[in-house]
Amino acid sequence: MAFQPVQHLAMHTLDTLPLTNSFAALPAAFHARVQPTPLMQPAQLIHFNPAAAALLNLDPASAAEQGFADIFSGRQALPGADPVAMRYAGHQFGHYVAQLGDGRAIVLGETTTADGERWEIQLKGAGQTPYSRDGDGRAVLRSTIREYLCSEAMHGLGIPTTRALCITGTDDEVYREQIETAAVLTRLAPSHVRFGSFELFFYNNLHDELRALADYVIDHHFPALRDAQNPYIALLQTVVERTAQLLSQWQAVGFAHGVMNTDNMSVLGLTLDYGPFGFMESWQPGFVCNHSDYHGRYAFDKQPQVALFNLSCFAQTLLPMMDVDAAKAALESFQPAYERAYSDRMARKLGFAAASPASDALLTELLAQMADSGTDYTNLFRSLATLATGETSARDRFIDRERFDRWLADYRALLARHTRTDPDWQAEMRRTNPKYILRNYLAQAAIEQAQAKDFAEVDRLFTILRSPFDEHPGMERYTAPPPDWAKNIQVSCSS
Ligand code: AMP
Ligand code: MG
Repeated sequence: MAFQPVQHLAMHTLDTLPLTNSFAALPAAFHARVQPTPLMQPAQLIHFNPAAAALLNLDPASAAEQGFADIFSGRQALPGADPVAMRYAGHQFGHYVAQLGDGRAIVLGETTTADGERWEIQLKGAGQTPYSRDGDGRAVLRSTIREYLCSEAMHGLGIPTTRALCITGTDDEVYREQIETAAVLTRLAPSHVRFGSFELFFYNNLHDELRALADYVIDHHFPALRDAQNPYIALLQTVVERTAQLLSQWQAVGFAHGVMNTDNMSVLGLTLDYGPFGFMESWQPGFVCNHSDYHGRYAFDKQPQVALFNLSCFAQTLLPMMDVDAAKAALESFQPAYERAYSDRMARKLGFAAASPASDALLTELLAQMADSGTDYTNLFRSLATLATGETSARDRFIDRERFDRWLADYRALLARHTRTDPDWQAEMRRTNPKYILRNYLAQAAIEQAQAKDFAEVDRLFTILRSPFDEHPGMERYTAPPPDWAKNIQVSCSS
């Protein structure tokens, strides 16, 4: 038989990347056409993500050329681009704000892969837009590194998120609380449409545009919903379900978003807009990562209920297309869907195949002891796989050791009753309890080195965090709880 070579699709260069912009093709009320404003100095490519390039079927070799940094810093046009800033509104800290939109982000276009996946390519920090209000349209290197590392870390953790193709940067000065330097993040997502995109049209009584937006989201992202009796109800149900799943993942991994305004909530259920986020280190359910969040509105343990508030804002915008009972029913499915998903995830983190009242009780008691002792959340769960079968060093992480011993006896007894037939169950636990998370102090160290033009630490963190469940020999120090100076880092919004 003749040898049949495997047909590989040729990879694209930036000149051949097929580019359309379906969002730009929507009516003028949806966006503003705006070109990126070049930085004063030519930009340097600070980091490049080959896995994200692969999503676009873009040849990673293109990153070696100066033209790549020129395009992804906004100095040169991406061939075929039709750049727009998206318009939206939103509830910020509970208050409706009518005048929002991409103040420093510009969607260049979208590319559709051979298997029909769409990826919007967006520059974040590429200059002012009509929605910049008082902002300068720029992003600083610090916040760009945080978003870049965290979005890849979330992807590595299996959590839906926007992705990032690269960071470019220059010495151009940007004024925040101090002088910093400018950078541009190239962000990728199937769509950047937010709950706030719907609120814009609802509150302005633009019902035709509202319906056009819903149709756009359904046709481009949820085509199967077209067959539903009322596709808009099906859309709402899908967004509720995806948001419940997303929140269960955030809570299970200890991720605090920090600014869960409705303009930062993706209708695709992606983690969107990384600002003052933080991963839980020492377990404190009321953890507030955003230092401007004076009342703890977005505290870690409030996130699921904030998600429900945000979903109600979203559901309200769809009322012109459905009756109120259908909207209520969809919203009522959030809490049970979230609770089921969270319990199941936590049961699996404990090593059980599914949640049960007994596993829920064990979890509650473990978390209560962790709160009393300030135990490191990630490290403790990572150690459970060996704790389950005899190793007991995790005991030292608790103040009341007798109470912990009682818990451990109950835990082992329940595990024994659920004798796992899967010989690989401890490895399975390690696939659900990450070893590495983006600790704030690690991000801070990488940022400070990058500000001194050494990007090696960004690269090291990037490599570890892309596969956070693996061991990474020699990288043990990246699992250390924060040093004293970094225990209570809160991050500001000024990014
Ligand atoms: P965020 O809380 O980061 O999602 O930002 C809220 C709004 O402020 C969004 O519409 C952003 O586009 C806008 N924004 C944030 N920073 C800037 C900036 N430096 N220049 C212009 N607009 C900004
Ligand atoms: Mg935002």
